[in-house]
Parts: sequence; structure tokens; C-alpha cells
Amino acid sequence: SAFVDFREVWLAYNDELLAQGQFAVEDITLQVEEGEFIAIVGPSGCGKSTFMKLATGLRRPSRGTIIIGGREVDGPLKITGMAFQAPSLLPWRTTLANVLLPLEIVEPYRSSFRAKKAEYVEKARKLLASVGLAGYEDKYPWQLSGGMQQRASICRALIHEPKMLLLDEPFGALDAFTREELWCTLRDLQAAQKFNVILVTHDLRESVFLADTVYVMSKSPGRFVVRREIDLPRP
Ligand code: ADP
Ligand code: ADP
Repeated sequence: SAFVDFREVWLAYNDELLAQGQFAVEDITLQVEEGEFIAIVGPSGCGKSTFMKLATGLRRPSRGTIIIGGREVDGPLKITGMAFQAPSLLPWRTTLANVLLPLEIVEPYRSSFRAKKAEYVEKARKLLASVGLAGYEDKYPWQLSGGMQQRASICRALIHEPKMLLLDEPFGALDAFTREELWCTLRDLQAAQKFNVILVTHDLRESVFLADTVYVMSKSPGRFVVRREIDLPRP
């Protein structure tokens, strides 16, 4: 069965917009299988961020149902890790301390954080090394390049082994070379760990390179539609 199941999901941002029939997303039905990497592409304003807010439980749909991990989503999810366009590392924390953050906040890690800190530090170091950041554990964000900050952000999103990684334009701010390097890093991590990924991007090439399935979100007159567009064999 699907890990993520959107069934005829509509969202209007408030009652007034709902009364006017102004929906930010309309009639989205899509499934993400266990371990699948999907991308959603589309022009700005088509509803990509809105989709992400629904997938994280930050917004409830006006109509339809969203089931993730076998449960109807009724509030913010803890099973997801997130990374965004601007790496949002805390400037007063080192790379290592930034990556450890979810373990200090999210159960079941939180309650054992003190007792298991050495183990968690080791885990964070390994993850950082896997994205080429060995040796940068004690640097602060301002001491890292944009690409390195973005890599650290992805580590932070994955450290608590979430079932699903949500990426909203995570590579948008990077130069083309760094971006393609990070694509490979992400693909390797996902192939090794088999978490679900939902990537939102307006870069069609990126979506085709990374995802198992690409959905195109389009804005036909007054309608926002998600269509399963491309099925790709994984390299
Ligand atoms: P994208 O991420 O693809 O650029 P969005 O999901 O941000 O698209 O926006 C989809 C539609 O919803 C747009 O018409 C946008 O103006 C509208 N919208 C987005 N956020 C809000 C909001 N907080 N209140 C009202 N309308 C919104
Ligand atoms: P990236 O491709 O990761 O964005 P850059 O192109 O800015 O990085 O720099 C290339 C390499 O130079 C980096 O991978 C890193 O090894 C090193 N580097 C860049 N900026 C710094 C920094 N502020 N401190 C230490 N090393 C850095």
C-alpha cells in the first residue's frame, strides 16, 4: 500500500476564498509508494508550496483526505525531515550541533539525548562524512560555502531517520556544478536508506534526474491539476 495517499484533496486558504471557490490546489489525487522518490514540478503559483504544507500537516485540506504512514494526517507530522531553498542552519551552532538538533527535539531521541550523546555524535559525524563534510564538524555556518551549508541541512533533515524527506527547491540557490554534485549525494543517500522523498522544484531537469516519478502541477484556467507525467527506471 502507498505510504502517502492524497485523495481528492482541495485547499482554499480561508473561508472567504472557499466561499468564492478560490482553491490554491484542486482535486489532487496521488500516491507515493514506500521508498519512492517523487518530484512535483510546475511554474510558480501553481500550488507546490501549498502541497508541501498539506504533506507536512501544517494545513488541513478543505476537502478530501490525506493518509500518510497509514494514518489520516490531522496535525504537523513528526515523521518528516525537511530542507528548503535557503539553508536554515542556526548561526550560533557548529555544523555538528546543527545536525544534532532534531535528536534534541524529536522523540524518541529527545528523552535519551544526554545518555546517548556520544552515540548520536558518532551518527552525525558519519552522516556528515557521507556528504563530504568530514573535518567541518566544528565550523560555523558562516565558515561554510553555500553548497556545504545545504549539505549540512540535508544531514539535519535525515539524522532522526525520518520515513519521508520533503525538499522544497533545496538546490535553487546553488551554482550548477554544486547543484549536480548534491543531486548525486542525495540520490546515493536515498538509494542506501530508502526513505521517501517529495521534491518540489521548477527545474525539470532536476526532477527527471532525481525522481522515480515526476508529477507536473499545472494551472489551467482556474484549476490546479497534478498529473502523473513520467515514469523513469532508476539508474
Ligand atoms: P507555488 O509554491 O507553486 O509557487 P503556492 O502553493 O505558493 O504556489 O500558491 C498556490 C496559490 O495559492 C497561488 O494562487 C497563491 O497566490 C495562493 N496562496 C499561497 N499562499 C496563500 C496564502 N497564505 N493565502 C492565500 N492564498 C495563498
Ligand atoms: P561548494 O561547491 O560546496 O559550494 P565552493 O565551490 O564554494 O563549495 O568551494 C569548493 C571547496 O572549497 C569546498 O567544497 C570546500 O572544500 C572548500 N571551501 C569553500 N568554502 C570554504 C570555507 N568557507 N571554509 C573552508 N573550506 C571551504
